[in-house]
Amino acid sequence: MALALVLNSGSSSLKFQILDPEAEATAEPFAAGLVEQVGEPMGRITIKHAGEKWVEELPIPDHGVGLNRVFVMLDEHGIGPSNLDITAVGHRVVHGGLLFSQPAVITDEILEMVRDLIPLAPLHNPANIVGIEVARELLPSIPHVAVFDTGFFHSLPPAAALYAINASVAGQQGIRRYGFHGTSHEYVSQQVPALIGRDPEHTHQIVCHLGNGASISAVHNGHAIDTSMGMTPLAGIVMGTRSGDIDPGIVFHLLRSGMSVDEVDDLLNKKSGVKGISGVNDFRELRAMIQQENSDAWLAYNVYIHNLRKYIGSYMIALGRVDAITFTAGVGENDANVRADALADLEEYGIILDPERNALPNTGPRIISTPESKVKICVVPTNEELAIAKYAVALAH
Ligand code: ADP
Repeated sequence: MALALVLNSGSSSLKFQILDPEAEATAEPFAAGLVEQVGEPMGRITIKHAGEKWVEELPIPDHGVGLNRVFVMLDEHGIGPSNLDITAVGHRVVHGGLLFSQPAVITDEILEMVRDLIPLAPLHNPANIVGIEVARELLPSIPHVAVFDTGFFHSLPPAAALYAINASVAGQQGIRRYGFHGTSHEYVSQQVPALIGRDPEHTHQIVCHLGNGASISAVHNGHAIDTSMGMTPLAGIVMGTRSGDIDPGIVFHLLRSGMSVDEVDDLLNKKSGVKGISGVNDFRELRAMIQQENSDAWLAYNVYIHNLRKYIGSYMIALGRVDAITFTAGVGENDANVRADALADLEEYGIILDPERNALPNTGPRIISTPESKVKICVVPTNEELAIAKYAVALAH
């Protein structure tokens, strides 16, 4: 079986999956794992394969040591890269800037271009580059492919991409809307036309990727025309721990009140959003708190839903006609309450959810609107690793 290795390298972690690029989105990968606490006195490697789980605690001074150890652990169980038919390695790269509209086979030159984009994603791209470097060293004879989170939004129309700030500063600094979660928005939006029986060239759709990070996109005949994340993944709808859109004046206010840049960054990215209001970011915990009549949880939920509805409404107008609204990612696929509340009372707009279909468990792509609903409401499970694997294998040939 031809497999792909997919790597998602963070500053102190490395996630991987070995998977069949032809598998269903909901299928378990052949193997998956996580290297954590890289560079700290004690690290941990967790690998899952065929219902088993192997855990090792050891110091992991750098990503190279971590990945090497993962390969040794896999080898010990007879499923190391040398035992498998791995045809491509796909790397998730957060920022492709204006340089990359498509995934790219990694060469030294491509890697230099990814390096040039570090100023746009100072936390993410360096970690992605380290992952690419160590994997290329360990698996030099397999093609490596970079898949960019921003790629699908590369062609946003200028009216959606530009911020109304001083054009020369924006130009010098590369300030514009890049959008993120593009691999997921593209993958999900490509599945919707077949699901609702429409020609992809004539399908107007809204995709709501609601995970811990969350974003919405408007997709017109296969092309993204707007998306809620911006120059960074902090913008847009309220998220698990990120604020989403706020008055930018709040940042100046906090800085002038004595907070450091890093403290404000941490506040808005990690201590805000649903968690900032309620204390929790997991929607299962939030629901349990709402059921116990916790008023902060209720407030956080209402702020979340209000923002979500505003974005859906604005994209309905941007698209003119909407054929499908699709939910995906952890919250979007599993939380029937969020879907129902996001689209409640919109019959006037041809949006009618079927409560029974909405309540069904997350088994795969499905329509959850009533037959009369002009706008089809869908749930399509996303799988970014699978999408990256598909790209990697396709480009490697
Ligand atoms: P990310 O990739 O951004 O970390 P995911 O798409 O994995 O996020 O989504 C994770 C979130 O999905 C969790 O924080 C939780 O809020 C939500 N989630 C997962 N399962 C369920 C469920 N059964 N019901 C409600 N929410 C869920």
